[in-house]
Amino acid sequence: MRLKQFQLARIFGIPLIIDYSWPPVAALHIWLVSNFWMVAEVQPSLPRWQNLLIGTFITALFFASVLIHELSHALVAKMEGLRIHDIQLHIFGGWARLVGEPPTPMAELRIAIAGPVSSFLLAVFFLLWLLIAQSLSAESQEVMAAQAAFLYLAAANLFLAMFNLLPGLPLDGGRVLRAILWHRRKDILSATRTTMKLGVWLAYLLISYGLLLITLAAVRGRLWQDFVVAIWLLVLGVFLKSAAESDYRHREQQFASEQTQPHDRKQWEGSGAVGAVMQSPVVSVTPDLSVAEFIDRILTTHRHTIFPVARDGRLHGVLSLAKLREEPREKWEKLTIGEVMEPIDESLFITVRASVEHAQHKLKMNSLGFLAVIDQDGFLIGHLNAKDLEKAA
Ligand SMILES: [Zn+2]
Repeated sequence: MRLKQFQLARIFGIPLIIDYSWPPVAALHIWLVSNFWMVAEVQPSLPRWQNLLIGTFITALFFASVLIHELSHALVAKMEGLRIHDIQLHIFGGWARLVGEPPTPMAELRIAIAGPVSSFLLAVFFLLWLLIAQSLSAESQEVMAAQAAFLYLAAANLFLAMFNLLPGLPLDGGRVLRAILWHRRKDILSATRTTMKLGVWLAYLLISYGLLLITLAAVRGRLWQDFVVAIWLLVLGVFLKSAAESDYRHREQQFASEQTQPHDRKQWEGSGAVGAVMQSPVVSVTPDLSVAEFIDRILTTHRHTIFPVARDGRLHGVLSLAKLREEPREKWEKLTIGEVMEPIDESLFITVRASVEHAQHKLKMNSLGFLAVIDQDGFLIGHLNAKDLEKAA
């Protein structure tokens, strides 16, 4: 299910994306807040148009709060050196989509915790306004309306902070837990697997709770508001479950191996440059992958003897199976590719513009008989061995 999206604005250079499910949900929120919250909190009730106005104001501040939550993730991620793809506002709040993965568990922890911390600070901020409003005379309807608005916003932000800290992917609490497990196990994939499972369990818990509420509401003949809450829980549960699973599948793919962009070799024809003879695209493996996972998942489909090791297109080193075989089998479960690869150095790669003679010279110096090829921006685009050069000659 993919709804159409549009870009609303750019903030700090980050596109803010909204999908078409969002305006009706914002309208529903305005309606619920002005018709129920305001009516319940302010007695005697304000005129309908005033409640609607305050409901709109609360809704705007609520979504601004969600946006601040996501921006906090995004800005901390930026400080950690990651690029931000965009921020999406959807019917359950927001999503700051990062390009690539945080480099360390500590970085992931800081990025994950930034959102709930900002929501918590916003709750305190609205609580202060609530206290100010409470110190005024409580007799007037205007003061009561202000109190109702600030109470709602403080509670909503507190809820956002707490809910997001539930320990399952894709929630922030899941990312915090994943960072801790990643640090302890030194294995990002197994940490992801555990927190993803927890995320799916949390989703089932929400769905069960929603079903329970619906049943109770039906049996007791309760108000329809109970149905709204229950249905919201159900939809949220289903959404979380699919997000947890797709997030994981995407990550699992991304963690295990990457394929470089297909490179147009025609532009190098007859140039005598490496670009004309290299093999491209190339499958690389990621440094966080455990050796056991590598053997189970990558080696069964890609029968090479040497693999470039890269993350997000950046070369980290070169893995040689000959070198890997020297490691005792019982250590495979714990070792990562990053620990057994040849770390990157000058002799292991060459730029696409370099001459074939230069590549020949480099290959002689290099114990693996393998060269990774990078483009002018330093991204891995192909590889090269002695046979490729022979064919060219
Ligand atoms: Zn968050």
